[in-house]
Amino acid sequence: MNQSRRNMLKLGGIALAAIPVVAFAAKNDAMRSSMKYKDSPEGEKNCSNCLQFVPGKTAADLGGCKLFPGDTEVSPKGYCVAWSKKA
Ligand code: SF4
Repeated sequence: MNQSRRNMLKLGGIALAAIPVVAFAAKNDAMRSSMKYKDSPEGEKNCSNCLQFVPGKTAADLGGCKLFPGDTEVSPKGYCVAWSKKA
């Protein structure tokens, strides 16, 4: 294998390795703002008991919200005006 091909494969590997970092650390600021999201609960209402919440690895980890596309930093203790009780 020649050197430039080896370098290209190496760069491809680096690029692929970088994708999860980008994909797993993002906030959907537009939706957060329009839904008045905050990192604290509103009484008994919080993301972890909301129908829209997508839990992280553990119950305490940051997760996602079905209404906030691409957002991976929704707190289980957060809240927004779209809160809807999980059945
Ligand atoms: S809709 Fe609002 S309260 Fe429900 S999980 Fe998403 S951000 Fe949290």
